[in-house]
Amino acid sequence: MKPIITQFTLIFLSSTLLLSCAALKTNATAENASIQAEIDLISIADDKVKITIMPPAIKAASTVFYIPQIVPGTYEYSNFGRFIENFEALDKKGNPLEVNALDQNSWEILNPKKLAQIRYLANDTFDGPDGQEIYPMGGTDFQEDEVYLLNLHSMIGYFEGMKARSYKLSVRSPKELKPFTSLPLISSSDSLDIFNAERYFHIIDNPILYSKPNAVSFDLDDIKVGLAVYSPSDTHQATAYQPAIEEMMKAQKAFLGDANDTPSYDVLLHLMDMEALQYFGGMMGALEHHTSTTVVFVDAMSSGELTQSLVDVVSHEFFHTLTPLNVHSEEIHNFEYNRPLMSQHLWMYEGTTEYFANLFQINQGLIDAPDFYNRMMEKINLAQRYDDSMSFTEMSAGIVEEPYQANYGNVYQKGALINMCLDILIREQSGGDKGILWVMQNLARRYGKDKPFKDEELIAEIVALTYPVVGAFFETHVQGTTPIDYNVYFEKVGLISGQVEVPLRSILFAGNNQLFFASEPNEAGVLQFAVKALNPSLEAMGIQVGDLVLGIEGELFPEINQENGAKINEMLTQTLGWEADQEVSFTLSRNGETLVVRGKVGNPTTIGEGLLEAPDASDAAVALRNAWLFE
Ligand SMILES: [Zn+2]
Repeated sequence: MKPIITQFTLIFLSSTLLLSCAALKTNATAENASIQAEIDLISIADDKVKITIMPPAIKAASTVFYIPQIVPGTYEYSNFGRFIENFEALDKKGNPLEVNALDQNSWEILNPKKLAQIRYLANDTFDGPDGQEIYPMGGTDFQEDEVYLLNLHSMIGYFEGMKARSYKLSVRSPKELKPFTSLPLISSSDSLDIFNAERYFHIIDNPILYSKPNAVSFDLDDIKVGLAVYSPSDTHQATAYQPAIEEMMKAQKAFLGDANDTPSYDVLLHLMDMEALQYFGGMMGALEHHTSTTVVFVDAMSSGELTQSLVDVVSHEFFHTLTPLNVHSEEIHNFEYNRPLMSQHLWMYEGTTEYFANLFQINQGLIDAPDFYNRMMEKINLAQRYDDSMSFTEMSAGIVEEPYQANYGNVYQKGALINMCLDILIREQSGGDKGILWVMQNLARRYGKDKPFKDEELIAEIVALTYPVVGAFFETHVQGTTPIDYNVYFEKVGLISGQVEVPLRSILFAGNNQLFFASEPNEAGVLQFAVKALNPSLEAMGIQVGDLVLGIEGELFPEINQENGAKINEMLTQTLGWEADQEVSFTLSRNGETLVVRGKVGNPTTIGEGLLEAPDASDAAVALRNAWLFE
């Protein structure tokens, strides 16, 4: 998974900022013991979808039907059962059987020998009970006759002891909406699609997007790639993003070498409107699956912004085909959706993945060295927000509980940096020959999607493949609690810290993590947005420190208070849709006079602490740097 928070509101709370059917007649018992599941997207009632599940014959005295508490890749309790309503178990004649709700995710059915079907309604997470707590990329969005984002773990469950049974999934859908998914389709017509899932895991591993056709598909050597887009305003067309996805995935395959044998890969891009983005507190991102990924961004993004976000996020998700999908522990292989045991190795599942999503871009020439250094430096800065002396393996094993859960975001920051240090160490020891990618290629060959490793043996195995110093690093900085001194590793590759030019995230920033204005009370105690610092684009427009910002693009901010936070945030978020060559305006107040200034957005930068190639670096350090970045 890769969550991104596009959140401008923290203004009020702190100065930090993160960017960051019954209609289908089926004989349940006759059909070779697979589980029949039916989803009705036509007769929607009150934004809820009717679901019917018909199990094979059950001989036990009682059984339990589960909806997942947690799903792979999210590392938090979601309790999808809370989106289920009107749960009923019925016999052949339609008479109700006795049901006990055990908790919000499980239902005990008594006397299941008579059970013919269960029925319930599924609410969506985009506006269901506390749905904002669910990552949108792992959620469900039902909009009648417009779009259905089906992350099936929030809709379809499993019976006790039957997770290995196959599923036949029938979906009745409006004829203008077409499904896009990597789930195998058995048959399809205008209003009925039938899919096959080998076991319950495949129900979870293959989300479906039903929308008006807006998709492309192309072959990339031996891999079939698909991209489907749902854009509420119809602004974004799949064809426009094909070149960027193609270039990126080609580079990823070249980088991975034989560590990748994914036969097909589908990207389901669901663009939400501004209201939904606010509902999720600015959360966007993507969730990985074996042969697809669900990506949720905001429709108001400019095509340039969306392209870069897709490259950063989809490349991360595609690298998940290496780990955890092809290199994972028993905890993940035998994932318990309702009583999870977590693995110790988030440093690898998320950390290695995120590191590769950056490293491949310089390795394959998509970005230059200063850009790569800035990205690593940004991770060092963002990692400071988390507990630097928390054991990473301990955090990982306990991630669903506090105090670990609050440190989850660090897997994308320090998790990636751990891999950078390991990479430099292994390169140094092997005379530049081998790095962390070599380790992962070896592990992928040894394991693979059907063969898990033993959680407590992985680190020893990596040390055996590499060098004792690697073992010491794990013991001290990954299992242990000693923070990493990154300068030690930068020195090995001839990098030093110094002042560098850093691109700003948006025109609203004057520093790395600092908006150009801040809210402060005037003499009457009324909050105002006062300009605190500038960037070159703002300076060129004539904005001055001390001005008050009253509005953007002709629209004035409402009264600045907590209540209007969402509205203000929405106005600020719209700036994500601005293109560099676009002319925009700000309404200001200067010495009591109101004025409007205009100018191009540009690509503003700032001078900040960064990494530089040391002019006096030794030949050995330069050679190691080149091996690290380019081999
Ligand atoms: Zn991830």
